Amino acid sequence: MTRILAITNQKGGVGKTTTTVNLAASLASTGQRVLLIDLDPQGNATMGSGIDKRDLEITVYHVLLGQKTIEEAHQRSEIGKYDVLPANRDLAGAEIEMVDLLQRETRLRDALKIVENRYDYVLIDCPPALSLLTLNGLCAAKSVMIPMQCEYYALEGLSDLVSTIRRVRASLNPVLEIEGLLRTMFDPRNTLAQQVSDQLIAHFGSKVYSTVIPRNVRLAEAPSYGMPVLYHDKNSKGAQAYLALASELMTISGVPESA
Ligand code: ATP
Ligand code: MG
Repeated sequence: MTRILAITNQKGGVGKTTTTVNLAASLASTGQRVLLIDLDPQGNATMGSGIDKRDLEITVYHVLLGQKTIEEAHQRSEIGKYDVLPANRDLAGAEIEMVDLLQRETRLRDALKIVENRYDYVLIDCPPALSLLTLNGLCAAKSVMIPMQCEYYALEGLSDLVSTIRRVRASLNPVLEIEGLLRTMFDPRNTLAQQVSDQLIAHFGSKVYSTVIPRNVRLAEAPSYGMPVLYHDKNSKGAQAYLALASELMTISGVPESA
């Protein structure tokens, strides 16, 4: 069965896009069929997959408004070996334009139904807000991956996100669960990071992935070359960490657990 994950955290700059792009490439490198959906008007996941957002005529925007299908709108990341439903700044308008449409929260889910069987994994990169776009990501997904930096305010933001997930589960998407929490940009020498990480494990237990993503300059550089880190420097700690995350994800069988 297709595993559909929303990669989300309303906090900005925590590594959502880096995780989506590099996890997509890592899963694809093991032969998994992957679709990456860019739900952020910044279009960073699109660019990071080697697709120029400025050249696009059809994007996820047209899919959300019901003007195009995913089949018509998707592109191939040749370098990453996965499909991309791309985004650019057009998407910023979708939020307002969707307000008057019926079932505005489930438009992505409805569009995805037709193509999801072609993929083993669908990874949805959400924007840094609990907006209608994120809500579409949460309704289309079966589970949520939460990248987070182990900082003081991280836990506070997390409780808002967890209550949003609960609300979505209660009203719009009863199958939604927390897939896992991913520690990103981690520096083990930082005492506060270590403390926050301990608190996270105390609270969420096995929901915290054992794979930790270290702070690694190769991960930050790779998007400027329009490629996942795997093809920029395969031996870097960043590339190895995302390969490890992909195998951890593949060993979690997808057995339902309550969030
Ligand atoms: P936004 O909320 O704006 O969408 P985001 O949560 O998607 O941000 P990213 O864009 O993935 O976060 O990362 C923010 C910045 O941190 C980027 O410049 C990225 O290259 C860098 N970065 C992400 N992860 C790492 C890492 N593990 N090591 C070093 N730099 C990283
Ligand atoms: Mg992002």
